[in-house]
Amino acid sequence: MDLDRRQAISTGIFATLAGSTATYAARNGGASRKVDVAIVGAGFAGLTAATTLTRAGQDVAVVEQLGRVGGRTKAAILAGHPVDIGGQWVGPTQTALLELGRRYGVPTELQYASGNNLFVHAGNLRKFEGDVPPLADAEMAQLAAAMEKIETQAASLNPYAPWASVNGEQLDAVSSRQWFEANVPSPAARATLELFWRVVYSVEASEISHLYALEYVRASGGLAQLTGTRGGAQDATFKGGLHLIARKMAAELGDRLTSNVKVIRIIQSDNDIRVIHRGGEITARRLVLAIPPSALARIDISPPLPANARYIADRMPLGSVVKFLVAYKSPFWRERGLSGQIIDTDSPVKVIFDKSMDDGLGALVGFFNGSDAGRASILSQSERRNLVIEQAKKYFGPEAANPIDYIDNDWLAEDGIGGGYTSIPGPGVFSRAGGALRQPFGRIHFAGTETSDVWPGYVEGAVRSGQRVAAEIVRSKR
Ligand SMILES: Cc1cc2nc3c(=O)[nH]c(=O)nc-3n(C[C@H](O)[C@H](O)[C@H](O)COP(=O)(O)OP(=O)(O)OC[C@H]3O[C@@H](n4cnc5c(N)ncnc54)[C@H](O)[C@@H]3O)c2cc1C
Repeated sequence: MDLDRRQAISTGIFATLAGSTATYAARNGGASRKVDVAIVGAGFAGLTAATTLTRAGQDVAVVEQLGRVGGRTKAAILAGHPVDIGGQWVGPTQTALLELGRRYGVPTELQYASGNNLFVHAGNLRKFEGDVPPLADAEMAQLAAAMEKIETQAASLNPYAPWASVNGEQLDAVSSRQWFEANVPSPAARATLELFWRVVYSVEASEISHLYALEYVRASGGLAQLTGTRGGAQDATFKGGLHLIARKMAAELGDRLTSNVKVIRIIQSDNDIRVIHRGGEITARRLVLAIPPSALARIDISPPLPANARYIADRMPLGSVVKFLVAYKSPFWRERGLSGQIIDTDSPVKVIFDKSMDDGLGALVGFFNGSDAGRASILSQSERRNLVIEQAKKYFGPEAANPIDYIDNDWLAEDGIGGGYTSIPGPGVFSRAGGALRQPFGRIHFAGTETSDVWPGYVEGAVRSGQRVAAEIVRSKR
């Protein structure tokens, strides 16, 4: 899309702005660089765009505000073992990420899923197999009917413009909670759907546009893909960690990547684009913004982004999540025929999985999601640890009282990111401005998991967005 007349007029003020930013860079001892493509953000989207463009012969410069790469994926150590304290799982239909793992020599291992899962609801603890918890027959029938309706509506969406689908605007006018209340009379079936939403989207069902929730289901291949372990999004993890792939991509980029520099201003003209960060500036032919929509709102962009892009940047916040891992001497629950997978509608941690290690260390991984994360975020880490251990005792008895290690990451407090897993629009936003998410603006191209129409919200979506944006740039003439 070429700059429109309004932007062309504001091009007149570029000289003034350029003067002041040159002074800024000089004042801060910053260096200037000239490249084909500047990329902001070294999460999987930015790293994929950068490595793809480099292989296509383009000179790139990547700038990342944090002192690490990987964005919403992050390394941590649990009882001496490397683990992921951000994004972790990969599913069999997430082919772009699986291919990346192969390219960088990071193999996958299947998520442990043998034995019985546990389901806790209204004070009752029951064992079950598979991904859908056991409800009484009448409640199960309502849950199954609601899930089928969701699948059918999701599959019928227009993949290019979900809001233009039949009933698109009506579905966008309500939250998923309003839809559940209108369509699912059984409280137990509603509580199960609310739990699925909290765990899959990491927001309350009242905070998400139902149309957006459906689009997410469509773009991921169905509800079973989103909620499933074997064959679904929780099918496997990467040996040594998903974050390891990001670090290997960064190593390939070498000094094309600079970390610890936050981009604060972008100035676009007819001839080039200038990216001003706290360590200097980059002049480029094209720019990739590989950051979540809410991070766009924190950069001074001149001329301003189109109204719909600004609207979505202001109204598509990240969800709320605190992720934890807890280690035991051994996975003692396995000896009792339990998989370690828990679904619990009654407690602050709604979902837990086994993350035990090959050398015999027992480990559980789980999340505080949505409003539970908000409440967990104001606790200290030791208070969160106590909450998690109390819950584990409920499922596994006194043996769970003595872990050998506990770590967690409050993503709401994560420097420069401020939430996870992904950005979620409330009612009304997606149908009004969803089209702006990946619409280039002059020399600016938008990547990031939120811009993907396949597996948005996941690392798969981030990787695909990086590939798409690289193709857009290779096709662009100047
Ligand atoms: C706890 C948690 C668990 C998750 N679990 C999974 C999972 O199991 N499987 C899965 O597939 N996905 C999972 N996800 C989601 C997944 O991690 C994200 O979808 C994906 O990592 C997003 O990648 P991205 O490149 O689009 O954005 P990001 O990873 O957010 O990268 C954007 C980067 O831009 C940088 N940046 C922002 N603004 C600026 C600026 N002004 N200047 C310079 N740099 C800037 C940020 O610091 C960041 O590094 C999880 C996420 C979380 C938080």
